[in-house]
Amino acid sequence: MAPSSRSGSDSAPMERHKALHVYAGPPRGFDSPLGPGFGALLEQRQADTREVDHMRDKEGGSHNVLNDDVLAELCRKCSEGSYMGALLGTPCDSFCCARWKPLPGGKKGPKPLRNRNHIMGLPGLAERDRKQVEKHNEITWRTCKISLMEYKAGGEFCIENPVDRGDEQLEQEMKRRTTREGGVELAFNALHSSLWQMPCVQQLQQLTGARKLHLPQCALGGKRQKWTTLLCSPRLYSVLYNSLGELRCECLVPHEDNKIGLIEGTNDFHTTASAAYPFRLNEILAEGFVRCHTDKGFKLMPRLDVATSCTSARATALVVALLLPA
Ligand SMILES: [Zn+2]
Repeated sequence: MAPSSRSGSDSAPMERHKALHVYAGPPRGFDSPLGPGFGALLEQRQADTREVDHMRDKEGGSHNVLNDDVLAELCRKCSEGSYMGALLGTPCDSFCCARWKPLPGGKKGPKPLRNRNHIMGLPGLAERDRKQVEKHNEITWRTCKISLMEYKAGGEFCIENPVDRGDEQLEQEMKRRTTREGGVELAFNALHSSLWQMPCVQQLQQLTGARKLHLPQCALGGKRQKWTTLLCSPRLYSVLYNSLGELRCECLVPHEDNKIGLIEGTNDFHTTASAAYPFRLNEILAEGFVRCHTDKGFKLMPRLDVATSCTSARATALVVALLLPA
């Protein structure tokens, strides 16, 4: 299936210059201690972002993608070409490889809900667990639906989730791209089932020719290694590959935040606290979406003076270049 042809023109509606960010998390401006989020960095590039996350319901309207009306409205906007692309940070709780880690002292905690042989959910789960699996199956399907609608209208999509720990070839690649000192966090687990085995995700990949990028977040300033996979529409993949495709963990000391499993005394995973992307990943994603959009002929206003508001290495280099005598 090829995306419908779409290119910019003088009559292109301004609404084109907007991205969709689903499961966006809390707002992150330039004053955030974590650094700016995807939306703030797109705004800096003269594009808007529609951020959707159920935790934002108090902002008005519903942000719950599990609500059929919300999903229908999002898909309609995607189909109408309202967005340059969609970034989807789909919740990974039910796929989380930390569920496989034995708890200290034989304590009870979240257990695997799926495995490679039972990707849609293990047989015999307690009702509460079964409901959680079914909810996440539905969330994954809705993620794919939004992505496909966006792609069919000529836009880009990127789905983010942790890497598949049951892919032996990928494990070798991660080892190749990791220094001995950093080590690959969490071992290969032949039974681990990730979002990437879900039939709807694999079907989306086949229908669109989407491709995966695998990266350690520490290479972009993250405190954890947190190997992450991005499934990208083909054009976005080619734009992002140079920046993200071969990133290495070159850490010479253990990662600052390397705890796996449950936070003592809670039912929360250590990894949940690092769900926010490092600022540099947001910057590369924002740049990638804008680049795809302008490559299609859409014109954005000139960028703001990045040197005054952006602290990235690239912006710093720009400041230095401006200050150097000619
Ligand atoms: Zn590292």
